[in-house]
Amino acid sequence: MKLIFLLLLAAWGVCAEDVAKFDGYKVFRMSPKTQEQNDLLLNLATSDDLDFWTEVNNAGIPVDVMVKPEDQKAFTNAMLKNGMNPEIYIEDVQSLIETQTVGRYAGERAMTWTNYYSLTDIYKWLADTAAANPGVVSVVVGGTTSQGRQIRGVKIAKSSGKRVVVVEGGIHAREWISPATVTWIINEILTSTDPAFRKVADSFEWHLFPSTNPDGYEFTFTSNRMWRKTRTQYGSCIGADPNRNWNAHWMEQGTSNQPCSDTYGGPRAFSEIETSSFSSYIRTLGSRMDAYISFHSYSQLLLLPYGHTSAPLDNYTQMMQIGRAALTALARRYGTSYQIGNIAEAIYPASGGSIDWVKQEFKTPIVVCYELRDTGRYGFLLPTNQIIPNNQEIIDSLIAMFVEGEKFGYVTLG
Ligand SMILES: [Zn+2]
Repeated sequence: MKLIFLLLLAAWGVCAEDVAKFDGYKVFRMSPKTQEQNDLLLNLATSDDLDFWTEVNNAGIPVDVMVKPEDQKAFTNAMLKNGMNPEIYIEDVQSLIETQTVGRYAGERAMTWTNYYSLTDIYKWLADTAAANPGVVSVVVGGTTSQGRQIRGVKIAKSSGKRVVVVEGGIHAREWISPATVTWIINEILTSTDPAFRKVADSFEWHLFPSTNPDGYEFTFTSNRMWRKTRTQYGSCIGADPNRNWNAHWMEQGTSNQPCSDTYGGPRAFSEIETSSFSSYIRTLGSRMDAYISFHSYSQLLLLPYGHTSAPLDNYTQMMQIGRAALTALARRYGTSYQIGNIAEAIYPASGGSIDWVKQEFKTPIVVCYELRDTGRYGFLLPTNQIIPNNQEIIDSLIAMFVEGEKFGYVTLG
């Protein structure tokens, strides 16, 4: 009898596992027009009850906020009272979450990009990819996490002595399209027959990391699809924003010192083992890097350093030209439109991000951050049938970026 009870309890424990549900949660879109309206949203952004999916900005980019059912009435009233007309952009977050199919990687390198994949499956695929390409691909460990996971990636090098490109994915856990873009790029580097991309692929030693926040990514699969941060414990709050935690004008702008906030920069720069260990890995590559490319979602932006100031520092002018060429190429296939600028001018001042640190430390010529699809219709819950189109247009843009970069002497192709 006692055993049956224990078994029942165990079964119940599995069923009742604490998975966050978002039934009736809506995403509202606001288009603030005045400084007062912007300030009101900035104030609300510090609240734990609201989840801002996009940053409050001075660039005219709409602001998307997820609001739980019991707060929707008060939220809508507050917006209307202040002259903003909140538009319901996502009717029911939970039903969108349920449309996101997760694939089961069955081995044999059979990843499809018509599904999203768990961390375990991505890591299996990386291992299989390395095993299938001996002497060219190796699994590398870029760092560790607070829960003891490894930040795994691959190094792809057909010969030694080449210049380096680093690709960073998934630093924000819920931006699932980011790891799916990085695994696609890995696959294209190894299998593409497009001569233009082959030239780019074969010109470098690549270091690619689909998920640089593995604890957070795993948590979005097991417990809370909308998790963004690391999983470090800070009192009663969990996690720091790993893209506000780098030692680059840390905690100066667009970041919170409140541990429960989604943009908590951590108690000090590089407090997160994820950013400190991964930055050590990057430091070993240092001046060998020609390019550092980071993938986030969403908003369709190509961002350049820096986030602490909108001043056109370093090779901003040249990178604007290179970035525009990349975005012209990106738009060609499906007409997808991206905006470009440095972080501070294109979104709003936000310091402590990875691309700022890389640029500041190594003056790497090509340093960019993509905010991938879409512009908010689905936001972080990008439908699986958009993964491949998203990835294809990113490859188009990367080719143009490197070709244009060669004109400035930043890279040498072929
Ligand atoms: Zn992000």
